[in-house]
Amino acid sequence: MVRKLPPGLNEQSFADAVASFRRAVGDKWVIDDDAQLANYRDPFAVLDPEHLTASAVVMPASVEEVQAVLAVANDTGVPLSPVSIGKNLGYGGPAPRLPGAVVVDLKRMNRILEVNEKFGYALVEPGVSFMELDNYLRERGIDFWVDVPDLGWGSVLGNTLERGVGYTAYGDHFAIQCGMEVVLADGDVVRTGMGGVPGSSTAQLFKYGFGPVYDGIFTQSNFGIVTKMGLWLLPKPPGYQAYMITLAHEEDLGPFVEILRTLKMNGTITNVPSLRSVLLDAAAVAPRSHFYSGTGPVPDSVSRKIMADLNIGWWNFYGAMYGPQASIDLQWQTVRDAFSTIPGASFYLAGEHDSPVLATRAKVMACQPNLETADIFQWFDNGGHVDFAPLSPATSEDALSQYAMVRDACLEFGKDYMGNWIVGRREMHHIQMTMFDTKDPDDRTRTLAFTKQLIRQAAERGYGAYRAHPAIMDEVAATFSFNDGALMRLSERVKDALDPKGILAPGKQGIWPKSLRGKGL
Ligand code: ADP
Repeated sequence: MVRKLPPGLNEQSFADAVASFRRAVGDKWVIDDDAQLANYRDPFAVLDPEHLTASAVVMPASVEEVQAVLAVANDTGVPLSPVSIGKNLGYGGPAPRLPGAVVVDLKRMNRILEVNEKFGYALVEPGVSFMELDNYLRERGIDFWVDVPDLGWGSVLGNTLERGVGYTAYGDHFAIQCGMEVVLADGDVVRTGMGGVPGSSTAQLFKYGFGPVYDGIFTQSNFGIVTKMGLWLLPKPPGYQAYMITLAHEEDLGPFVEILRTLKMNGTITNVPSLRSVLLDAAAVAPRSHFYSGTGPVPDSVSRKIMADLNIGWWNFYGAMYGPQASIDLQWQTVRDAFSTIPGASFYLAGEHDSPVLATRAKVMACQPNLETADIFQWFDNGGHVDFAPLSPATSEDALSQYAMVRDACLEFGKDYMGNWIVGRREMHHIQMTMFDTKDPDDRTRTLAFTKQLIRQAAERGYGAYRAHPAIMDEVAATFSFNDGALMRLSERVKDALDPKGILAPGKQGIWPKSLRGKGL
């Protein structure tokens, strides 16, 4: 492997910088050998796996060491790429957006600083995973749950900064974040919101403080390194019941979404449910070759056979109900009454159907972190995925139009439609999880071209994505083009003001520092 150096550095200046990093954090906490650097690659690389690679990794253990690392970067011009635990599967893993950047791996900062049982919040450092926080709560018998994403091994803080989602009423992770500590590029340490008042007892209770609200600018950005974050915990409910609704027909998507929007907005369905396509659920059961050995996308006739064999729908909806049993019974009756208007809809409580997806969703919606959702990567040998993730208004018209757009592109590029609609209050995150063989260069190229085409087509219809793999960040950012790209101009002005030397995560979310703008890196 040829080592990628950061732009503007040569072997000698880079070696000097690495020596300075070693002095900042201790010899053994700097990684620059190829074998260990391989752990910092994107496990699901859709580009050449050698492309988005780090030149070194630095592992500070405290805020002071983070400041020392930033000082070295400012002195030497070495760009940094902070990660908390660095899972971020499907979105680049721990790999930097800028080839040759130095990853700042924060997993040694892994303290749960506070769990407050009266108000139900936690204050954590970057290296705390969902599994660890969950263990902490369960071992101590604390009657609160931490809302978890699909895979529970990642960082609570990293997932929240990426505006990741979970599946309870607390599933919008940025919405339940409260208070941050951030080290700016010049080493200044800021506490947001009420945390700005020394000795404040409301830093994790009230999000806004006094003056501008800054927390958002440190999410999906490259404006600082976040070293502490507060989050609200979900009071453990007195009862819980997950369920599945299967829909027999492709076109049921439209009426289902119309009913769903009403039930979400009036508070009948309180959690973040998901509506999954037949092949996505099939992937949890067996590899693609088990169902279909031909070339091109899995034909509809095969999908229908899968539906019959697995007793699932073209669409499969997973929700959960929380509260006392009497309330759950009433919720279930209301949900069934509402969706029974769709011919062929079938209803199952967890335990009434042998779907492994229902079993996994039942755990995730009850805040039990696990890795079972990773089963879907068995779809291909060396399976990986890259996501196209547009927001859709929760209407029949929009859902059907986005579905048709993605399905038609699947046919054109020989990909399988693997849609997962994650339902917010008024919108849905429509996530097409495009599976590919990470070891097959042709499949990688096709997958990337497919995804880029969808980004363009969606933008032509006014749809934008909520999150993106580093390989498509520039493309997604370019679709937010109102007023000749005023949003990016604002981000660039903030970037230039906070990080004039451009040392923090260059190119992340399409935001490049002045010196690297327009270079096509
Ligand atoms: P997870 O382990 O939960 O999947 P990561 O640690 O991979 O999350 O973080 C996801 C992304 O969020 C990173 O690639 C980086 O862009 C950003 N990020 C993570 N932690 C920090 C942090 N402490 N400060 C600034 N940005 C961060």
